[in-house]
Order: sequence, then C-alpha cells, then structure tokens
Amino acid sequence: MPKGRRGIRGGLRPHLDDPYLTRKSYKEPTLCPRCGLVYRRRRWQRIPDFDPKLAVGQHKCPACRKEEDHYVMGIVYITGNFFAQRRDQILNMLRNEEAKEVTHNPLDRIINIIEKDDEVRVETTSESLAVHLGRMLYHSYGGSVEYKFSDEQKLARVYWYREKKEEK
Ligand SMILES: [Zn+2]
Repeated sequence: MPKGRRGIRGGLRPHLDDPYLTRKSYKEPTLCPRCGLVYRRRRWQRIPDFDPKLAVGQHKCPACRKEEDHYVMGIVYITGNFFAQRRDQILNMLRNEEAKEVTHNPLDRIINIIEKDDEVRVETTSESLAVHLGRMLYHSYGGSVEYKFSDEQKLARVYWYREKKEEK
C-alpha cells in the first residue's frame, strides 16, 4: 500500500461540470419540498426562519435529485480490519464531518453508507465531500489514502485503508 498522501491542497477544483447544477435559474425564492433548502440570490441555501408561504415556486434541489436518482459523485472505500474495531466511532466522525460541510455547502451530502463484509462504501453527492472525508479519515486514524478522479464522468474515488496494528 502506498504511503498516505496528504491530499489535494487548497481544495478541489472541479474539472467537469456537475450536470445537476444547471445554469438555468429559478424564480426566487424557490423552495425544495424535500429538504427545505431555499433558492435565493442564485444559490441553494438553508434559511432557518424561512416562511414556506413566501416561496414563489417549488423545485427539488440538486442534492435531493441526486439522492433520488442515486447519482453518486464521490465514493469513499474503507478497507482493512481497523474499521470493525472502531466502527461506531468512525461512522460518527463521518456523519459529524458531513454535518459540518453541510453548513458551508448544503448540497454536499452523504447519500448512503453501505457496509459489506470487508468493505464499507460511503457515497456522496459531491467530489469535494468524498475528498474531505478521506482527508479526515487519514488525519484522524492514519492508515493510507488515495484519490482517483475519473476523466469521463464527474466522480471522485477515495480509498482509505488501515489494518489494526500500525505505528503512527
Ligand atoms: Zn432538497
């Protein structure tokens, strides 16, 4: 296994367009009926005190459409027997990181966490969230991490691996 890389500095620059972020704009304010985000000032945002009656229209936000279509843009693969030992702690950490990211970008979400026998797969609505989660796994638990970006489609694959015993 290669030594863990420190990841991509200065954030991730998208190299392909996100097909769910269309250039067309909605009337403002538009409400996502599924998650309650509001489209205002040309972007989707969480507005806690927003009165839904003020919405001029309803339209599902890009993140909800991705979740419904199961359109995955980032996948974190977790392997190695360390995970089983710290399962709950690691899953909590991932959910906490998601919650923090959502405050910056409400369209960055975990779609699914799928646990199979020897691999856990975390699917996200964005490349940057997958990269961030990989970075946090490496930062918190060591092991090794690798990032792969697809040229044909907008998809980031992050591989994090750790066995139980490791000198850090
Ligand atoms: Zn939504």
